[in-house]
Amino acid sequence: MKFELTILGSSSATPIYNRNPTAQLLNINEKHYLIDCGEATQMQLLRLRIKASKIDQIFISHLHGDHYFGLIGLISSYHLNGRNKELTIYGPQGLREILDIQLKYSQTQLRYELKVVEINPKVSEQIFENEDIVVRTIILNHRIPCTGFLFEQKLRKRRIIKEKIQDMDLSPADKMRLKSGEDVEYQGQVLKNQDYTLDPIEPKKYAYCSDTLYDTSYFELIREADVLYHEATFTHDYLERAVETYHTTAQQAGEIASLCKVKKLIIGHFSARYLDLTKHLNEARTQFPNTFLAIDGESYVI
Ligand SMILES: [Zn+2]
Repeated sequence: MKFELTILGSSSATPIYNRNPTAQLLNINEKHYLIDCGEATQMQLLRLRIKASKIDQIFISHLHGDHYFGLIGLISSYHLNGRNKELTIYGPQGLREILDIQLKYSQTQLRYELKVVEINPKVSEQIFENEDIVVRTIILNHRIPCTGFLFEQKLRKRRIIKEKIQDMDLSPADKMRLKSGEDVEYQGQVLKNQDYTLDPIEPKKYAYCSDTLYDTSYFELIREADVLYHEATFTHDYLERAVETYHTTAQQAGEIASLCKVKKLIIGHFSARYLDLTKHLNEARTQFPNTFLAIDGESYVI
């Protein structure tokens, strides 16, 4: 099953040096989930030939503009392009009001249903579930209410060993039984489940930690994630500035990845003061070697 992350924007505050404000697209089993929606998100989707129409859920971490200023544009385009299926946005208190005002004064009556689900900024909770995944909020520590998101794949069914059944004429119902872990009777003999199936593929976990101060309170939730995206706005020589603005340094992001025993770290949300990001990468790697930079347009398999 596909589980792939594409970075649409990796910049903090302002767009600069080919870096757009924050936005990411998760493709899980060909379903698209948008995480944050900074300015230029639509252009990035077009550029990367990602079908915006496939997005039915959008997750907004907080109401600093670099994380959602692209939202009304996308909502309007859906309207103009004749979207008729529901769109659900999970976001902070106030988002509904902002969108309603924008729609009111442009006298736009959306042709599709726009649902905005308000996130509780104080308690981590499950906010979304479908047949593939469960999404939970991660309570972060920023100047305004801010949550990250944990995307967890559900445990899948057992995998049938194809070579072992290729000469049998098993019914679809029997195959389903094998996948569900049951034994199956076939022409008078019992097919023991453990002989004919393999364990399901381990469910994957993606943790998205947008803007936050270094804060141990959310470490437990992101523990052993397959991929952790963590903001690393500054290099460690700007620690004071990071603390002042409720952000994390690259060194701290590496430390978090190491303490939480994640498998891979992607750092992003880079301050516009940096043209070159080598220092961020090296700094994080001193703490956690399996670190990568979030690069606009790049995809990462989870
Ligand atoms: Zn912010």
